[in-house]
Amino acid sequence: MKYHSTRNTGEKYTVSEAIARGLAPDGGLFVPDEIPAVTSKEFGELLTLDYRGRAVRIMSKFLKGYTNEELELFVSRAYGKNFDHDEIAPLHFTEDNTAFLELWHGPTCAFKDMALQMLPQLLTASLKKTGEKRMVCILVATSGDTGKAALEGFKDVEGTKIFVFYPKNGVSDIQRLQMVTQEGDNVGVCGVTGNFDDAQTGVKMVFSDEEVAAKLSERGYFLSSANSINWGRLLPQIVYYFSAYCDYVNAGRLKMGDELVFCVPTGNFGNILAGWYAAQMGLPVGKFVCASNENNVLTDFIHTGTYDKNRSFHQTISPSMDILVSSNLERLLHSLSGDETVRWYMQKLGSKGKYTVSQNVFDSIRRDFAAGCCTDVDTKKAIREIFEDKNYLMDTHTAVAYKVLCDYRAETGDARPAVVVSTASPFKFATDVLDALGEAASVRPLEQLCEKSGLPIPVPLSDLDKRTVRFDDTAGRLEMRRKVEKFLSE
Ligand SMILES: *Cc1c(COP(=O)(O)O)cnc(C)c1O
Repeated sequence: MKYHSTRNTGEKYTVSEAIARGLAPDGGLFVPDEIPAVTSKEFGELLTLDYRGRAVRIMSKFLKGYTNEELELFVSRAYGKNFDHDEIAPLHFTEDNTAFLELWHGPTCAFKDMALQMLPQLLTASLKKTGEKRMVCILVATSGDTGKAALEGFKDVEGTKIFVFYPKNGVSDIQRLQMVTQEGDNVGVCGVTGNFDDAQTGVKMVFSDEEVAAKLSERGYFLSSANSINWGRLLPQIVYYFSAYCDYVNAGRLKMGDELVFCVPTGNFGNILAGWYAAQMGLPVGKFVCASNENNVLTDFIHTGTYDKNRSFHQTISPSMDILVSSNLERLLHSLSGDETVRWYMQKLGSKGKYTVSQNVFDSIRRDFAAGCCTDVDTKKAIREIFEDKNYLMDTHTAVAYKVLCDYRAETGDARPAVVVSTASPFKFATDVLDALGEAASVRPLEQLCEKSGLPIPVPLSDLDKRTVRFDDTAGRLEMRRKVEKFLSE
């Protein structure tokens, strides 16, 4: 199986090249030439396996040139004692036809761990397979959770360095503390004045700067990405859609072969796209419901066929979804239309900040996706209601998805079994969760939430305020390049 860029189908890459490079040289994203199918026999076997076993089976379909032994090793390293739940990604049912897929039992308490505990395994193996002798420097722009998850995944991994840019005023206190106290000898962290899109644009500028690349190469480095533009990030995420389906069936609440609805709190469109790939492989999915906060560019896109980022940016209580340019949408558009059309859309997005897809593409999107958005006020209301009615505590991102699923069901009458993809521990956003529960947060919000909910504070968050702050540097968008060069000369 070969890979190609969303902007040029003709040029082929191995999966190792795609993962090592992160972004295609023409600025496009890597995608596989074809999506492999899961046969019904294979699907039946998945039912009997644990998360690790399922991960090996699904990932191996995309990773030609990797042995089963290799994959088993990767999986045991990525999904082991670093998770605080044996099932790794458990389903929690609140009703017969509604379950939360909890993807936040990893070391940073957000779903990014599902991919970023795996990516370093895939990346270091890919570097060996491609014969790359230089050190890789991972550059990350984060809306809050990716940065910490990438730092945890790559800290002290041989042959790698990692540098993270976060929007100075766009992340929660806990998110910032998690990053600036990061341990490890190969890590760097820097705040950026502006929002996530500024940080992401800045990182893309560094990536496409040939002078920087040449200079770093001389020093024995090359740049790669741990953002969800990297195929090695998306791939591990396909697994949990299959796993959730299997667990639903095993719980006796879904008949094998029946369609399941997934509602996904969405920012960069990576998580939901991984689900869509699972569906292309044969997973029976009735609908993907794309849930946004007040940054509802995707809701409008799925309703109208026009993607228009010319709108004001809202800072919300679900900051990991405060995004106006959803990079991974490019992969979906490529699957539905081809490289020439994608180049045209992306050119329009660059020059006008908007594009409208063809009727054909729009029809396909409408067939697979529904969409909705949710204000901060409604997000909080949802957190409180579910806590009071079902004794289940959601974080602010998960609550957006839950509310949007309720709206979708009310509007369409679709009562099929559904999964709300739960992307963060409520403790990671304790202040806003407390506020939603009607409590003013004290100076110790974690303890307070623990007392209020009766749930334990996740271990990785429990001593954050006692750790030393190692990074307090900040930069404007144009200074980011210099920060990277400086980091790599130390
Ligand atoms: C990153 C993130 C999202 C958005 O996921 P995408 O793959 O960018 O769509 C949602 N919730 C949380 C908690 C996140 O960290």
